[in-house]
Amino acid sequence: MLKFLKQVGDYTKEAVQAAKYIGQGLSVTFDHMQRRPITVQYPYEKLIPSERFRGRIHFEFDKCISCEVCVRVCPINLPVVDWEFNKETKKKKLNHYSIDFGVCIFCGNCVEYCPTNCLSMTEEYELSTYDRHELNFDNVALGRLPYKVTDDPMVTPLRELAYLPKGELYPHDLPANSRRAGKLPEEILEELESSK
Ligand code: SF4
Ligand code: SF4
Repeated sequence: MLKFLKQVGDYTKEAVQAAKYIGQGLSVTFDHMQRRPITVQYPYEKLIPSERFRGRIHFEFDKCISCEVCVRVCPINLPVVDWEFNKETKKKKLNHYSIDFGVCIFCGNCVEYCPTNCLSMTEEYELSTYDRHELNFDNVALGRLPYKVTDDPMVTPLRELAYLPKGELYPHDLPANSRRAGKLPEEILEELESSK
């Protein structure tokens, strides 16, 4: 008899626990039912990349002094700097420059250390191709400026979650002048200047 009562007790305890877990799960579901969808209808809508986004690298041929610092700081020695020594001017002359974005990890070291600032990270992230060899960009392809999401008339640009006003989760139909949550970079700089 005691054994039977113990079994009933255990069963009741487990049933109560199961009901509690189901309730917890459903509370999350009901909470989401009250929210509006935040799906971005790509490619008709696109998120505006953040200010420090590390996308495809842009290269300015005329600024490059063929020093190869970018190659040395790259974790995989990726940039190919093809130069020859000009005996008349006694300077290096750059012939070709290329970066293979099929291998690049977008760490940004080359951009950070280039002494002439001829490399920069752009907001371009749509690099998919059918052939990975097409991702080996020469200096002409690297010199192309990316098409901005905000300049594309075919696309509705949307703000990323971090750039939405406080408490806002839905990036659609926001007033253009609505302020994002937190301090703006210029406000932080101002505060730093005034605290000096
Ligand atoms: S570090 Fe800059 S200047 Fe030097 S080779 Fe690379 S891209 Fe050219
Ligand atoms: S972003 Fe990083 S991995 Fe890519 S070329 Fe520059 S240093 Fe190399």
